[in-house]
Amino acid sequence: MALETEAKTGYSPPTQAESWVFFNGEFQRYKDVHLGLMTHALHYGTGCFEGIRAYWNEAQEQMFCLLMEDHFKRLQLSAKILQIDLPYSVAQMSEATVEIMRRNGWREDIYVRPLAFKSDEKIGVKLKGIGSSFGIYASPFGNYVDVDSGIHCKVSSWRRVDDNAAPARAKVTGIYINSALAKSDAEEDGYDEAIVLNQDGHVSEGSAANIFLVKDGVLLTPPASDNILEGVTRRALMTLAREDLGIATVERSIDRTELYVADEAFLCGTGVQVSPILSVDHRQVGDGTAGPITKELQQLYFDVAKGRVEERLGWLTPIY
Ligand code: PMP
Repeated sequence: MALETEAKTGYSPPTQAESWVFFNGEFQRYKDVHLGLMTHALHYGTGCFEGIRAYWNEAQEQMFCLLMEDHFKRLQLSAKILQIDLPYSVAQMSEATVEIMRRNGWREDIYVRPLAFKSDEKIGVKLKGIGSSFGIYASPFGNYVDVDSGIHCKVSSWRRVDDNAAPARAKVTGIYINSALAKSDAEEDGYDEAIVLNQDGHVSEGSAANIFLVKDGVLLTPPASDNILEGVTRRALMTLAREDLGIATVERSIDRTELYVADEAFLCGTGVQVSPILSVDHRQVGDGTAGPITKELQQLYFDVAKGRVEERLGWLTPIY
């Protein structure tokens, strides 16, 4: 099938090994970057990263990177919290991303992964005085969860990390053990996703996504102080809802059982995009199908991401 497509279109994407990456200031092939077994971040989780999507628009033969600058700004904040030396501006990291995308010549949806981490090969559980590295790799990536039919969720018995234990607002590699425990537990129990509560028992977010409810025509989402990662998608959706659909969002703490009685609910994030939640803990959300506001926002989000909304082209970086 891949060969057939290639013969028709002349499109032959690089293998992961041959793909171009950016590492410590240079463009290199993925296969030429090597890290030692003693690398600090591998042992202590002392890294921070981003996940950025680029959408291929077949009609325009163009690739659009979505809200790239917002992601690099968050990476700088995460690096600051971790005392990681990140010697690149948002513009420099964005330029490096565009360059690797061009070199790879992709014509399909892509996921970009920038990573700043403590790279000294040194023992020592601390942040200060440990040297760091920065890299960006990218690879083809489809849907992470089923955005069309929706997902079934359970409230996890794993609680979200607390800011005074590990900073949820920073996208820290080590903190993803919290996400992985919740996600695996949900999957092993037959659900698609986990919803995690914070230490106070309020709804925080999904395992790697923010959450919204719809109640009486208004969007509800937990505030930044409920140990969420402040999602780029979350902010974008609040803007689209307010400015384009005339729907307000209230940021306030949400109780567990509000999930059960919401009219609609969805997860959002770069990976999950906009994913309707059909049930929580075996209770149908609304009528158990994707709700009308969720569907409208999802459609708008994909239109914006794919470069089909003129007024939102400023959110996109064209690659070619
Ligand atoms: N929360 C967590 C824990 C995440 O990993 C993500 C994905 N980055 C999000 C929320 C959503 O963030 P964004 O919209 O910036 O991708």
